[in-house]
Amino acid sequence: MAKAILIIDDSETVRAQIAHELMSAALCDRILQAGDGIEAFKLLLTTPIDLILCDLEMPRIDGFKLLGMISSNKQLSDIPVIMLTGHADRELKVKLLGHGASDYVTKPFDAPELIARVKVHLKIKGLQDELKKSNDRLKQLSDTDPLTLIYNRRYMMNMLEKEMQRAERKGGHLSLVMIDIDHFKHVNDQYGHQRGDEILASIARLSQSGLRSYDFVSRYGGEEFVLTMPETSHEDALIIAERLRNLIQNHSYTGSLKALKVTASMGVATYPTDFITSVPDLIREADEAMYRAKVAGRNRVFSMNRK
Ligand code: GH3
Ligand code: MG
Ligand code: MG
Ligand code: MG
Repeated sequence: MAKAILIIDDSETVRAQIAHELMSAALCDRILQAGDGIEAFKLLLTTPIDLILCDLEMPRIDGFKLLGMISSNKQLSDIPVIMLTGHADRELKVKLLGHGASDYVTKPFDAPELIARVKVHLKIKGLQDELKKSNDRLKQLSDTDPLTLIYNRRYMMNMLEKEMQRAERKGGHLSLVMIDIDHFKHVNDQYGHQRGDEILASIARLSQSGLRSYDFVSRYGGEEFVLTMPETSHEDALIIAERLRNLIQNHSYTGSLKALKVTASMGVATYPTDFITSVPDLIREADEAMYRAKVAGRNRVFSMNRK
């Protein structure tokens, strides 16, 4: 991947000198320069940078201050910073490393040493980036249901705990819709298990349409899904569930599934009530409402709104 290095120094001559050395060593694809801390910070917020070379002594925001700003910014804290100091002072160097610098080079700098240090830190940064990417991929895999590609039950349970704590803190609501496909056994019997899988994936996609960014659908079990809606009142949740019930009922399948009609029964529950003070309560009440919807004839939305 293309590498970018940012040189921050109030002396244009020093910047040009460093840029020249970096170019000659062909260490990166792009060199950016900033004459002071503010200009540098603005650049950092808008441009992906792989390594920073930063002068210690600069007017207004000096190297220390900028180092603090970079280290405390989550988006920037992984970028290695090599400080350029005019002093050979040991204490100062220790202090810089303690403040988040990856390394330091004393000015006037020795070009081969500077290049060698830049190389080491670019390599470490590259390995860290790769590790982060594969961790993100693993996290995504462990949160996702492989058949429907929506969130799995594990992710849902984690999020429900968090959202419930948030609702409690803010004094808001958290609504949950338990969705169970009607007579799915018949669907499998008639069309085969593989088609059944495709239908489940279609319903998962349908359930996601039109949701707000903080609502999410997860696969709770075989042909059961859960729609989680933070900051949503019981009344609003009922309306949204009804809309989804209609969407599922009216969906036209294609090809060999042309004649297929699928419906779902849904149960809605909202935290908090006297009966719902925990995540298991919320799931139990939504499940109970869904069960009642089944008993009442299926393809309907029922509410558990016991006070
Ligand atoms: P109802 O909910 O309306 O009472 O009837 P149902 O037939 O849907 O209920 P039940 O819970 O008895 O059966 C669920 C069926 O869903 C049984 C199972 O074969 C099917 N199923 C569960 N997971 C999958 C899956 O991953 N793929 C397919 N194709 N079918 C699945
Ligand atoms: Mg300076
Ligand atoms: Mg079921
Ligand atoms: Mg079912």
